[in-house]
This record gives sequence, structure tokens and C-alpha cells, in this order.
Amino acid sequence: MDSSVTLDRVVMRFGDFTAIEPTSLEIRSGEFFSFLGPSGCGKTTLLNIISGFLTPSEGDVRIGDASMRGVAVNHRPTAMIFQNLALFPLMSVYQNIEFGLEVRGVDRTTRRRKADELLDLVALGGSGDKPVSALSGGQKQRVAIARALAVEPRVLLLDEPLSALDLKLRQHMRNELKAIQRKTGITFIYITHDQGEALAMSDRVAVMSAGRIQQVADPETLYHRPKTPFVATFVGENNRLPGRVVECHAGLAVLEVPGLGRLTGRCESELSPGQPAALFVRPEHLSPSSAEEETEAPRLEVRIETVSFEGAWRMLEARLVATGDTLRILAGQGEGSALQPGQTASFGYAPDKAIVMADDGSPML
Ligand code: ATP
Repeated sequence: MDSSVTLDRVVMRFGDFTAIEPTSLEIRSGEFFSFLGPSGCGKTTLLNIISGFLTPSEGDVRIGDASMRGVAVNHRPTAMIFQNLALFPLMSVYQNIEFGLEVRGVDRTTRRRKADELLDLVALGGSGDKPVSALSGGQKQRVAIARALAVEPRVLLLDEPLSALDLKLRQHMRNELKAIQRKTGITFIYITHDQGEALAMSDRVAVMSAGRIQQVADPETLYHRPKTPFVATFVGENNRLPGRVVECHAGLAVLEVPGLGRLTGRCESELSPGQPAALFVRPEHLSPSSAEEETEAPRLEVRIETVSFEGAWRMLEARLVATGDTLRILAGQGEGSALQPGQTASFGYAPDKAIVMADDGSPML
């Protein structure tokens, strides 16, 4: 069955404020799709439009090829898992899972069989009679998933459901959610401000800022080929060195960066000489370079400010000697790992690892 979700020129206004700028998008049937963006960018608003809690000011939502215009929340083939889970704390696990089926008039035996199947799916088999209040955070999470799946939605909407869990459990539940999505083949639409979560679970991610989708792509593409400065800095860490374009051809751009001279990086769109732009280079792509090296590669002189030990690597926070701007550098074993705060050092990068993009005025993190 086609469980794709299409947003067709959807706009949402609250009074004079436009929360969702015109947005068109197709979420594929059976896909794990995430909306990722900072607080207030419009993620919940979009989810509420898909579920039917909100009616868009303009445009239409389709599930499969059916328009959802005028279709009430409880008549849509969707189910939602909220941030606070919204379980009934005084009821048993069975009662929670069977609730939606009971409302739909499903008989007791069928309800129980379905609940047992779902408890097995979420690895809670045998816990049906326990009161929900006696469960751990991760177990409650699983009950919420089972309850949402009980009504056999074609599309499951998840509103930051892991945010209340501690880090270890959150990472574990990411894998569980992904596995459940694979097993059921249901279209999952997940919203989060946590880029690690979105990258780890999703087939594709829409990165949002201020009511606009900046880029829709698979996690690898978002990380390695961000289309806008906002995506480059919101998805993973990135250093940004602003300047003006000197030239751009054959996929490489030369940027004049005040205090640092000419820096080279990849460019994927047209850039004109003189245009304001910035070079983005990730902390893991900076490596120590010595003054004796005969190399064309750019060298960035820095003074180390802090060194954070993070297990397999160290994160160095440094200041560019020429400009005073901050540069973050990931130093693995050996390379640069002996550097201490107060020392000066020189770092370089391979130009094909850096990206030059026009400054589009979008907010930066
Ligand atoms: P968060 O991660 O904090 O939940 P979000 O990305 O989900 O943020 P939304 O809740 O969708 O953001 O809100 C988007 C914008 O629309 C915000 O500026 C918010 O203040 C505004 N907004 C949302 N609902 C309403 C409403 N009912 N009336 C007026 N403004 C609203």
C-alpha cells in the first residue's frame, strides 16, 4: 500500500506570523524520515499539519494519493507518539495498548492477541499485566510505540519521543526504533533538534530553519555536501571562515579571507568574483602542518586555548593568530595530541575537504 506523505505547497500562518513558508515535499512510503532543526523552526507545526491537529493556511497534505483536506485526526491513517508519551499511568500495559482498539469496537480476544504480538515486537513480551507506573523510562517508551502501532497506522508521527531518556538509553532506543520501523515497513516521520539522532536513524532528513526547508537528503549527503551555510553548521561541527570570492572554476573556489590570505575549497554552485562567501572546514579535516613543508596547502596559525579529552580524540579550541576567530580542531592519537593551551601551532587542510558557499544571510550557529 502507498503510505507516502506529500506536502503540496503547504503554508501555515498564525495571525501575521508565517510559521511555515511555502513547502512542498514527498516523504516516501516506508521511509524513516526526520525533520531536523532548532527550537521554533516549525517542526511541530508541520507534524501537526500531517496529523490533522492543525489545518494549513494554504496547500494540501496527501497520504498515498488521498487528500487529507477536511479529514479529521481520528480518520487519518496516522498515529502519533508525543514527547511526554501521554500514557495512562494508572492502567496496565495491556489496557494502554488495547485502548485504541477498544474505542474502535475490536473484540477482547482479538485485542489481546494484537497486544501480545506488539509486546513481542517491542521486546516487552510477558509484561502486559504490569501497571505502566511500574515501568522504567525505556519500557514506557516501548509501550507508547506498541500503543501507537495497535491501530495499524500507515504513518507514525514521532515528536521528539526520546528526549526524556538518558544518553545510553536514548542511543539504544534509536536502534530499536529503527529496527521496529524496518520490521513493520510503516512510514516513520520523526522530529528532533538533535542532529545525532536524525543522522543515526533516518533514511532522509529535512533540515529546517525559520519555517523553511534548507535541504532534504540522506545523512551522508547532508554531512559531506551541505547545500547552505546553515546546514553546514547545524549538521555536525564546522569552522566558518568568511571572505570574498577571488575566482571559482572547475569545482574549486579561491577565497580572500582577511588576515589569512587566499584559501581554496570545493564549490558546487556558481560564485562570482567579489561575492561575500565563507569557507567551511570540519574539525576532523584540520591537521598539523610544519613550516618546513613545501606545500601549496593553506596553513592556519593558531594559539591553542583549551584541550578537551574525549576518549579516542581531543577537541582543541584555538584562536587564529591573524584574526582572533575561533577554530575547532579534532586531534586523534599522535597528531596534535600533545598540544597544550598557550602553545602556537600551524594547521592545514586538503582543499577538497573544505567547501566554499555564498553567504546567504541565513542564521548561523
Ligand atoms: P520546538 O522544538 O521548540 O518544539 P518547533 O520547531 O517544533 O520548536 P513550532 O512549535 O512548530 O517549532 O513553532 C514554530 C513557530 O510558530 C514558533 O515561532 C512558534 O512560536 C510559532 N507558533 C506555533 N504554534 C503557534 C500558535 N498556535 N500560535 C502562534 N504561534 C505559534
